[in-house]
Amino acid sequence: MIQHHPGEELLLPLAAGRLSAGQALVVSVHLEGCAECRARLHTLQALGGALLEQAEPAALEAGAWERALRRIDHPAPVPAPVVPMPAAHPALPDGVPWPASLGGCRVTAWRWMGPGMRYARIGMPHDPAAALFLLRIGEGRSLPRHTHGGVELTQVLCGTFDDGRAVFGPGDFDAADEAVHHQPVVQPGATCVCLAYVGARMRFDGRIASLIGDWIGM
Ligand SMILES: [Zn+2]
Repeated sequence: MIQHHPGEELLLPLAAGRLSAGQALVVSVHLEGCAECRARLHTLQALGGALLEQAEPAALEAGAWERALRRIDHPAPVPAPVVPMPAAHPALPDGVPWPASLGGCRVTAWRWMGPGMRYARIGMPHDPAAALFLLRIGEGRSLPRHTHGGVELTQVLCGTFDDGRAVFGPGDFDAADEAVHHQPVVQPGATCVCLAYVGARMRFDGRIASLIGDWIGM
């Protein structure tokens, strides 16, 4: 049962195609498992279409119609198709499906980031610089206490964590920013795997955690 969903401040720009690729990817993985948010997105898209239809007609520049016809006759060169990335990806716990939205991404193997903690870097073909990570954290383990330099989006693929604000389980979505200072602790029972978008570097309280954060680029 999903308890935490992305807000309108993310779904609206997603509907309008204005959300950054990294953020859109995390929201898309949430949508894969959340019929409620898919319905909300559909409503927002329909609303956007209705607004466009009601917009006042605007006068076109002289010659616009002829230019459009010429472009149809002589289309611009089509960019080479994006070659799908290899399907290899780091293993998820048994029974946890690989999100379809990550299909075109390049994903590293699991790498050590602390006792009981691993991360994998995700590279998006059309925005390789976006800071996207998979985090795999064992039960009872916790991420070091931190705040954020900007927005941080998290989608739980499996397991459960409690960061003092709320408990986040499979399918849940979280958005945090500079105002949130937290320490996610993985609850007993299962390993937790999350997809995370880090808009600006995390600010860890501890010196060692800061060094590891620098090293990972998180
Ligand atoms: Zn949702």
